[in-house]
Amino acid sequence: MLGLMQSQQLLISSLIEFAERHHGEGEVVSRRVEGDLHRYTYKEVGARSRQVANALDAMKLGFSDRVATLAWNGYRHLELYFGVSGSGRVLHTLNPRLHPDQISWIANHAEDSVLCFDMTFLPIIKAIHGRCPTIKHYVALCDADKLPADSGIPGLLSYEAWIGAQSSNYQWPSFDENSASSMCYTSGTTGNPKAALYSHRSTMLHALAGALPDALSMSARDCVLPVVPMFHVNAWGLPYSAAMTGAKLVFPGPGMDGKSIYELIEGERVSFAAGVPTVWQMMLGHMSAGKLRFSTLKRTVIGGSACPPAMITAFNDEYGVEVLHAWGMTEMSPLGTVCTLKNKHLELDSSDKMKVRLKQGRGIFGVDMKIVDDQGRELPWDGKAYGDLLVRGPWIISDYYKGEGGSPLVDGWFPTGDVATIDADGYMQITDRSKDVIKSGGEWISSIDVENIAMAHPAVAMAACIGMKHPKWDERPIIAVVKKPGAEVSREQLIAFYEGKTAKWQIPDDVVFVEAIPLGGTGKMQKTKLRELLKDYQLPGT
Ligand code: AMP
Repeated sequence: MLGLMQSQQLLISSLIEFAERHHGEGEVVSRRVEGDLHRYTYKEVGARSRQVANALDAMKLGFSDRVATLAWNGYRHLELYFGVSGSGRVLHTLNPRLHPDQISWIANHAEDSVLCFDMTFLPIIKAIHGRCPTIKHYVALCDADKLPADSGIPGLLSYEAWIGAQSSNYQWPSFDENSASSMCYTSGTTGNPKAALYSHRSTMLHALAGALPDALSMSARDCVLPVVPMFHVNAWGLPYSAAMTGAKLVFPGPGMDGKSIYELIEGERVSFAAGVPTVWQMMLGHMSAGKLRFSTLKRTVIGGSACPPAMITAFNDEYGVEVLHAWGMTEMSPLGTVCTLKNKHLELDSSDKMKVRLKQGRGIFGVDMKIVDDQGRELPWDGKAYGDLLVRGPWIISDYYKGEGGSPLVDGWFPTGDVATIDADGYMQITDRSKDVIKSGGEWISSIDVENIAMAHPAVAMAACIGMKHPKWDERPIIAVVKKPGAEVSREQLIAFYEGKTAKWQIPDDVVFVEAIPLGGTGKMQKTKLRELLKDYQLPGT
């Protein structure tokens, strides 16, 4: 017997329809490439998204055709999120931090038809437009009078003229919720990049679960600042969850430095912000230098790489901001776990609470997790056993776009490439990427643990731990350190700093001071590059 409920497809267009109807006056504020702050409402987002849909129809783009973006977080990008996917095309967010060779490779692989870009990225467009035969239209996200006469891009359109010529009357189409809605290529450490291809259904379920109180807890009372880029895994789904809840949205545009972010938080009365640790590092540096305080910020979700304990403490103890440590992947849309406390933790003293907050958190509803040993046997949830982390759920990939790399699943589970523990309360803690784990004398050393201790030293801005070949122990950890400007610490002082904080054999054998740690396109430390930089390095005593 079937249930007798209405069958309605879960479609992204319903989000903007809802926001327009129920939160029409809700604000969307964006710092623009032009430098000013742009301010309008969900009602206008809806109207202009429909103009985008009409403009794509006028270009005769077919169902599932790819529309690429190369853009900062901003209102025009948001309109493309809804206009492109809502009308049945696939939004392909390109990462402008990649090399133009990689960008053109990705655009060709995706067979993009249209590319919409912020003027900041005109040099990239100039470098790639002759190499991307499938792209028929380039649209600059600006007013008609801002188009450079000498762009060198034949037929270059201005976004405002392009959508301005269209009516805002449009009926969002209904189609199968399993249709593709957007795509994002992984930064992949080996081989060519591979794309996760999200569906309307997966995006809607992810946005629903992401908005839950024990996930990101979003509501119409929130003012949300996604610092995490809209070109990386749909800004963790925040644009969708914001429309679903009617939260005010604030976009930083190209202003990603500590000062700009801080001023935006204060100026727009942001209550909730999301970003990777490197962004917050810059902002906290700016705040401590100027003895600044927050007046409205209540919580911040930090993920993308491990959040150093010192950062959680700074937000919590110095500024009264709750940190939600979160973990996920491009292949997971991306939310997997968020660290929120359970009722029983509320009575704990602050140092025990901190031990919980340091973990990457509990799986949100919809994400099933397990850890396995080398033979694929499931390991206990005791907070001690660590193994390969596998996941499954309705917003986790089943295959990569075009079947690249073969089937990624093992018995229906997606291997994340992360190594983790899970405790009896379901809190997962990442100890490493499987390729970064350091094996010393048959035991594993978590590079994240070694880094976290160094990062707690007041003179350390950033630290990366890697294993070096050792004749006796197989591998031994060393730590590459970037000092804070004007701060001093010696090799011996830093090694002494580890005393009592970890087992003796987990203390790094050496400290190497470097100018910078190589970061990838999504702000993650690139340990392969670091290893290349240190290829002539020799461990002391070997
Ligand atoms: P990406 O698909 O580029 O977002 O990268 C996903 C990977 O980033 C994960 O598999 C983890 O290795 C890492 N990652 C994401 N969030 C965290 C976190 N909170 N702590 C540690 N590693 C993380």
